[in-house]
Amino acid sequence: MAALQTAATLGFARIGLQSAHAAEPDAVESAPAIVIGSGYGGAVAALRLGQAGIRTVVLEMGRLWNTAGSDGKVFCSTSAPDQRSMWFRTRTEAPLAAFLWLDVVNKDISPYPGVLDRVHYDNMSVYVGRGVGGGSLVNGGMAVTPVKSYFTEQFPTVDADEMYGTYYPRARAMLGVNSIDPAWFESTDWYRFARTSRKAAGNAGLKTTFVPNVYDFGYMQQEAAGTATKSALAGEVIYGNNYGKRSLDRTYWAAALGTGNVTIHTLEKVKAVTRADDGSYVLTADRIDITGAVVETKQYSCTYLFLGGGSLGTTELLVRARDTGTLPDLNSDVGAGWGTNGNTMLGRANHIWDTVGAGEATMPVMGIDDWANTDNPVFAEIAPLPMGFEHWISLYLAITKNPERASFTYDSASGAVKLGWSPAQSAVSVSMAKKLFDRINLANATIYRYDLFGPTSKVFADDFTYHPLGGCVLGKATDDYGRVKGYDRLYVTDGSLVPGNIGVNPFVTITALAERTMARVLAEDTAP
Ligand SMILES: Cc1cc2nc3c(=O)[nH]c(=O)nc-3n(C[C@H](O)[C@H](O)[C@H](O)COP(=O)(O)OP(=O)(O)OC[C@H]3O[C@@H](n4cnc5c(N)ncnc54)[C@H](O)[C@@H]3O)c2cc1C
Repeated sequence: MAALQTAATLGFARIGLQSAHAAEPDAVESAPAIVIGSGYGGAVAALRLGQAGIRTVVLEMGRLWNTAGSDGKVFCSTSAPDQRSMWFRTRTEAPLAAFLWLDVVNKDISPYPGVLDRVHYDNMSVYVGRGVGGGSLVNGGMAVTPVKSYFTEQFPTVDADEMYGTYYPRARAMLGVNSIDPAWFESTDWYRFARTSRKAAGNAGLKTTFVPNVYDFGYMQQEAAGTATKSALAGEVIYGNNYGKRSLDRTYWAAALGTGNVTIHTLEKVKAVTRADDGSYVLTADRIDITGAVVETKQYSCTYLFLGGGSLGTTELLVRARDTGTLPDLNSDVGAGWGTNGNTMLGRANHIWDTVGAGEATMPVMGIDDWANTDNPVFAEIAPLPMGFEHWISLYLAITKNPERASFTYDSASGAVKLGWSPAQSAVSVSMAKKLFDRINLANATIYRYDLFGPTSKVFADDFTYHPLGGCVLGKATDDYGRVKGYDRLYVTDGSLVPGNIGVNPFVTITALAERTMARVLAEDTAP
């Protein structure tokens, strides 16, 4: 942590305890191991490599989020977003774009390497975090372990006993997962919204369950008591939390830098990967400044290459490498098996006597668990909608067991990697979510909100996901430990490995799988 703070204070784009192994201008900078991306998969890889004494360079396209702006805060507020909110935009693109059909949510901003990105493909957009910590900087912190039977269904070749006995517990401990005090949950006005949603689900005979989170609930209670600066209780979430959240920069990255073997280079986007005759991997990366201008194109080489750019970042790099011929032996499963984790967001209007409270904590702690319903498996996160006034809206992020999958392809004309997702594939998630929430509306004599997702009276947000998964699926594009097929010493450690759906919020699974990969790789591949 001290290393992160010092680096940030000094404005370094290169962060680490070790002395920099500086390259000559235009020379290739070499390291035994390189990690691309600093989300969950990248963080686990870097920490375990560093602990094994392997000098590791991490390349992250976003910035380090640790210096305060002119308002004294690192991250901007959700209600009055500024340039820090989004990745090179002139206007924010919040998931809930409207209230009463009015465009009152989004704001004009200056282009800047902000913390949240919305990546647009045909028929689907994907929200991702940008910066040291990846998605952990912007997400809701819900740290959910899937039911073992579904894990086995999705990963039939992985030893589930070992995952649930060793790697899930290891991931949860490292991530700082904790649970809300149930007594406080029942009494505080900050979670009235969740209790109201629980009551509505219960009226329909549906089960709700508490879910853990990485937000420090001890800190949250101090916020409520007025003894700590508010973050989750001040509406902060998708554009970053200034306090309270154990994002990866405070957990895995602090530990990784503490090994003295890990250096992070920020604002560097890897754009190509190839292999030299001696078997080393050669990377080309653009270093950008805060205007987005490329100020330098750098070359790196390494013996071991770990891909942690997330489902989109990693898959795009590998699809491009295969189809432009720089890594021609990648198999046809690279780019395939991608899904949205069945995400669909929706809102319901409660009766006037079923209030949700003027203040809502931004960290979800409860879900409607109907996954065991074989006719229509859905797990729905009871999501906050903090507007600072009573609005009677229950918001949900439904995770449905949508079996639809899509592929990424390289378009040689434009040089872009495209996603082949269709509206019909989103319609499957919508129809599953609708089946569940029709039941809740029927039991409570309530209706959907039609005004939250733009001017078209859309009820179900079917055009974005928070949970991109797949593209380099475990056991298909890679072996059962994330080793990329066709190439030795090349690994995937992020959400690309998960076959499109995991039935709950995914980061604990991504972290646990990465822990499993690193344990195996360090035991077998890097041993002298
Ligand atoms: C608003 C929001 C809320 C969410 N809430 C939850 C939740 O409550 N619980 C949960 O489990 N999940 C949640 N998620 C999803 C979760 O954050 C992701 O599943 C998780 O971050 C994915 O981890 P990853 O390691 O695969 O990649 P990421 O965390 O996406 O990290 C990838 C990193 O690589 C960098 N990168 C990509 N390409 C390159 C490149 N070419 N060169 C250099 N760097 C690159 C990116 O900038 C990024 O920092 C949420 C997501 C969002 C957007």
